[in-house]
Parts: sequence; structure tokens; C-alpha cells
Amino acid sequence: MDLLETLVGKGLRREPLSRAEALAVLETSDDELLDVVAAAGKVRRHWFGRRVKLNYLVNLKSGLCPEDCSYCSQRLGSEAGVLTYTWLKPDEAAAAAEAGVAGGAKRLCLVASGRGPTDRDVERVAGIIDAIKERDEDVEICACLGLLSGAQAGRLREVGVDAYSHNLNTAEAAYADICTTHEFGDRVDTVRQTKAAGLSACSGLIAGMGEGDADLVDVVFALRDLDVDSVPVNFLIPFDGTPMAEKWALTPQRCLRILAMVRFVCPDVEVRLAGGREIHLRTLQPLALHVVNSIFLGDYLTSEGQAGKADLDMIADAGFEVEGAATATLPEHRRRSKAPVSDAAPDREDIGDDGDARPAQLPGPARTDLVAVRRRGAGTNLPPNA
Ligand code: SF4
Repeated sequence: MDLLETLVGKGLRREPLSRAEALAVLETSDDELLDVVAAAGKVRRHWFGRRVKLNYLVNLKSGLCPEDCSYCSQRLGSEAGVLTYTWLKPDEAAAAAEAGVAGGAKRLCLVASGRGPTDRDVERVAGIIDAIKERDEDVEICACLGLLSGAQAGRLREVGVDAYSHNLNTAEAAYADICTTHEFGDRVDTVRQTKAAGLSACSGLIAGMGEGDADLVDVVFALRDLDVDSVPVNFLIPFDGTPMAEKWALTPQRCLRILAMVRFVCPDVEVRLAGGREIHLRTLQPLALHVVNSIFLGDYLTSEGQAGKADLDMIADAGFEVEGAATATLPEHRRRSKAPVSDAAPDREDIGDDGDARPAQLPGPARTDLVAVRRRGAGTNLPPNA
């Protein structure tokens, strides 16, 4: 297929895709799916080899958020029955973090519900980071605390935060459909503030919220324009008790096409398979490892993932390896800042396919049986899944 040959070449050279090319990836048929995954896999292996970075979520403060993000089980008025608790104590957070690192995680993602932190909250997080670093001073720390001021971003950098995560979630044009208490522009501002403070920017999306292909391309292009270092791709977990409980719109095949599109648009960026992978990709999860170079290990903020051991087995069985702490995740040109596009390795690999069938766009089944509210780990007396 000429399209995939072109996209592989662009990915290896870090040349930007056009909107039409990104849309065309989403419009490929199920008959073409393995060719799409193979093409995205060539780009993935070129920049990241067969390494998989493991990230571990620690939910520092859960539920009771005043914002109304309609996809979120922690939102204002949520009846999802998720764990609700206020800030973990530093030793509690450090114990949860330690379990993740012992399970193979290289990055800890410290997350708190809410619109954004107060300055006092930022100092709380500083204390938590101290406790974590006492046990492992080299672990990567990503904070995810909501909307942030420039001064707060700078303070987080001072206290040892490496990265800041704040998702754009969906296209600007669709943002009012998923949230009314803040705007797309607020999120963009926070990503810009974190970059200005010298933090590595992590920002991604949630697919399956009723968006169209153009919305998905728009949000991924917005992330490319922001030049973020990592892009988590979430698939909506339609929690009962939230406005999106009935939205089961994804198939495993569509999830793979979305991941491939993100890989082609952001070829040298850490693309992370994030929440919802177990319930939407299901048995096709290992195929996604050919496209992404990063996953979350174990449980999510408010839902349970598959066992950490199953994550590690999946990676090994699929022929990939867990990225070690001493290995840099991003290609060198991204670490030393922005090199000209022409510096990228130019090898072009050919693939062939001439399929032109239309995509299967049937909604996915409502697999409510696979959604489990988290009842273990941080905020409970039970050990974490890592
Ligand atoms: S601000 Fe964050 S925690 Fe609050 S409802 Fe939105 S996504 Fe959920």
C-alpha cells in the first residue's frame, strides 16, 4: 500500500504527516490491519527498539473532584463508587511507589484529583517526593495535579519532578462536549507552563468518547504542535455512574488504528498505551506493543488493570523487553532538544499492500464485566498490583 510506505518513510525521517494521511490511517480496513501495525512497528523499532517503558500510577488523592469531566469516575457527582480519600501521607505514597518500582516501573506517575493544586498541595507533593527518593533516588517522577501556574511548575521542577502530565483529551472543537468547568485552552496553557519550566511534557488523549476521526486527528496534531515528549493514549472506561457509562464505541481493531495514527504523527515520541487497554484491546493487547513503546504497569487510578505479572509476561511473550532504569527512553535528538528534521535517520523501508476495503466501524460490545473499580493499593489496606 502506497500510504503505509509513505508513512513509514516519513516516520523514519520525522517528517510531518498531512491531515489526509492521518485520517487515512483511521480509515483503513480490518483486512489491512496487520499491515498498518507492521508499518507502525517499523517506526517504533527504529526509534525505540523492542523496549517497553513501564510507568506506575500512584493516586495520591482520589475522587470528590469539583470539575465535571464527563469521562471521569472522580468527577463532581460521580456515582461510580470509586475509592475516595484525601492526600496520602508521604510514607504511604512511598510504599505504593516502591511496589511499582519493584515490579519493573521506571517512572512513577503521582496523580491527584482536582482542578489544580494549591501552593500548599505542591509542598505536600514535595514531601512525598522526598520520601520516594529516600528509597530510590533515581526513579523518574511525573506529577499530574491538574491545571498549574508557571510558578508551581517551576517549584515542582526544583523539588525533583522530571515530567508533568496533563492530557488534552480530545479536540478543541469537541472539548465542550466532555467538560464545562474548564476549557481546552486551559489545558494547553498548563502544558506550555510545564515546558517553560523545563519539565518533560506528557499529554495525551482519550478515545471512545463519541469523537469522530477528524477530532482524533485534531487532538493528536495539537499534541504534535505542542511538541510533547510522551503521549498517553487512553481508551474510555465507561464507568457506571458517569455520563459516559453507555459509550462502548471501540473495537480492538479501531484501538490499534488509533495507536498507529498516533505513532505515525508522533514517530519519535514516547507513545504510551494507557487506561482501557484491557477492556478494549482485550486479547489483541500484544499487537499494540508493536506500535507503542510504553505502558502503565498494574492498576489505574480508579480501576483495576490486569495483574502486573501478566503485563510482564505479555511483554516477554511478544518478544519485547522492559526498559531498564539506565536506558534513556527518548532518542538522543529529543533529549538534546530539537534537532532539524533532516538530522533524522533516512532509511526508508518498503511495504506493499493494495487493499482498499472500507473500515469496519461497528461499535464494540459493552464489556461491563471487564470494568473493575480499584479496591486495592493506594488508599486501602490491601497490597498494590504491580
Ligand atoms: S479534573 Fe481530573 S479528576 Fe477532576 S473530573 Fe476532570 S479528569 Fe477527573
